[in-house]
Amino acid sequence: MFMPVIKEEDCTRCRACANICPKAVFDAKNGEVTVCSPAYCTGCESCTAVCPKAAVTLKQL
Ligand code: SF4
Ligand code: SF4
Repeated sequence: MFMPVIKEEDCTRCRACANICPKAVFDAKNGEVTVCSPAYCTGCESCTAVCPKAAVTLKQL
């Protein structure tokens, strides 16, 4: 299982990770981007690849 983790201090809330995730793991609303459904993460690494700040990493559980 994989768990995406957002480093809040580096995140600019650009929503790129939320937009690219095919499993809707992220929630982006009210100017915040959070990990809402980590159980659906397949570890595809699209979010880590697209983040311009390297603020999202994948933890393997
Ligand atoms: S690794 Fe893939 S499935 Fe998991 S949160 Fe990132 S984009 Fe979504
Ligand atoms: S792509 Fe990176 S900087 Fe943009 S909202 Fe996601 S974690 Fe934050």
